[in-house]
Amino acid sequence: MTDFDYIIVGAGSAGSVLAARLSESGTARVLLLEAGDAEPLPLMAVPPAWPALEGTSANWGGHSVPQTAAGDRTVSVPRGRALGGSSTINAMSFMRGHPSSYHGWSYDDLLPYFKRNENLSGIADRDPAIRGMHGPLRVGPAVTRHPLSTAFLEAVTEVGRPVVRDYSSGLREGFGWADLSIADGRRSDAATAYLLPAKDRANLDIRTGVLVHRLLFAGERCTGVEYRAGDGPLTTASAAREVVVSAGAIGSPQLLMLSGIGPAADLRRHGIPVRADVPAVGRNLQDHPLSGVVYEAARTVPPAANNHGEVQGAVRSRDGLDGPDLQIMMVDVPLRRDGLDGPELDRGYTIGVSVMTPHSRGSVRLADARPGSTPLVDPGYYTAPEDLEAMVRGLRIARELGDTTALKDWRSREAQPGDRDLYEYARDNLRPYNHFAGTCRMGDDPGSVVDGELRVRGVTGLRVVDASVMPSLPSGNTNATVYAIAERASDLIAGSGA
Ligand SMILES: Cc1cc2nc3c(=O)[nH]c(=O)nc-3n(C[C@H](O)[C@H](O)[C@H](O)COP(=O)(O)OP(=O)(O)OC[C@H]3O[C@@H](n4cnc5c(N)ncnc54)[C@H](O)[C@@H]3O)c2cc1C
Repeated sequence: MTDFDYIIVGAGSAGSVLAARLSESGTARVLLLEAGDAEPLPLMAVPPAWPALEGTSANWGGHSVPQTAAGDRTVSVPRGRALGGSSTINAMSFMRGHPSSYHGWSYDDLLPYFKRNENLSGIADRDPAIRGMHGPLRVGPAVTRHPLSTAFLEAVTEVGRPVVRDYSSGLREGFGWADLSIADGRRSDAATAYLLPAKDRANLDIRTGVLVHRLLFAGERCTGVEYRAGDGPLTTASAAREVVVSAGAIGSPQLLMLSGIGPAADLRRHGIPVRADVPAVGRNLQDHPLSGVVYEAARTVPPAANNHGEVQGAVRSRDGLDGPDLQIMMVDVPLRRDGLDGPELDRGYTIGVSVMTPHSRGSVRLADARPGSTPLVDPGYYTAPEDLEAMVRGLRIARELGDTTALKDWRSREAQPGDRDLYEYARDNLRPYNHFAGTCRMGDDPGSVVDGELRVRGVTGLRVVDASVMPSLPSGNTNATVYAIAERASDLIAGSGA
């Protein structure tokens, strides 16, 4: 007799959706295992406080390896460790990418699932044909608007760029009020939207403070997991149907490798017996590089009520592209890397720029064979020179917007980059956008980690469902796409009879 039908590793954006959907029928026995704590931190509910969450127990912490094409500095690699995972510490921008940026599962494949996740009822200008009105996650644009966001949209019009409705659909190019995963002034996250309503189901067992050490196998079949709660003994749990790994773009490849699924030579080097030689595990790591033009304000910038990024734009850096490759946004704080000169928090603002279809690829590799170790994370920022080119073009667009009459009353001076060379500046003032993805890539080719139904190659009874399965990043912030991937995966899993 097995303990459960499904075991889900990781209660993040994806794992929370899966746990709620797979237990919905009341029959399948579901175990959800999460390393983080059961109780949310009070700060999680306070949207403008989100940057402070990086310094709390809800972040796994850790840094990248030195970024050779970006000043040889390391960058922080935040990722959530809590019920709700990264959705509880993220910046709450909520949007889809442009259809041209979806590979593997297309925008149209995901459309019903984007809609199933979100709840925009009561929000004007949202078309129910393409947006969800009844999903568990409440989202919508800023209710209390920051005056810098309003002035920025006037700047957009002044330079002749389009202002669009429903920017977050991913279908519109131009600037607009982005949807935020904020409702009634509080964060909406995977835990509150999916787990809270499901947690008392008799067939759903949620265990927190639990680190999964490895996956267990009988022959080729994944039969369960080995885990430890705090300092307690190693414990096992078995699954009659499937184990689903939803440990995120860093945690999922790490757990596969610790379980013997990955590049054989690397695994042997760490003394891990090889179960399946899948060289692509941990490869193809991607993030959107983030920079921007930082201004010293002519007056005190009022405190934000939302996430510091209410208005955003999807822009093409040049002709001949399939879709927008830049995101340009008003950030109501002076955003820059640690140590870089600039104004105090309430005396500056930023026109942020991110490259949304990066060509650079990096990796996640094991540092050692201990579960819970921080792996070697290399996002490989700017290793593809075209990403740096796109960033520099974006900085020029940001500067044009920043120099407008619409922002004259706010602007004292350009604090960064000032008279610095834009290429040197872009490499120096690089921040992670924390949209890590791609390390368990989905594909039809034998070189991919999971197939088109997210089943891990080389074994049975095992899927990966989270940001790691994306072959490439969508040209929008990732959370909405992760939710949609998990919603679709829950249908595949429930319908597979595996
Ligand atoms: C600081 C920050 C800001 C961001 N801002 C935005 C934003 O504004 N908009 C947006 O769209 N996206 C944003 N993102 C990205 C977005 O939140 C993520 O892409 C998304 O949440 C990833 O979901 P996931 O399910 O793949 O992983 P996660 O949500 O990270 O979930 C993985 C879960 O697995 C658990 N876990 C891992 N390993 C183990 C193990 N061995 N045993 C047990 N549990 C384990 C983790 O604790 C975690 O809870 C941000 C991310 C961060 C970190």
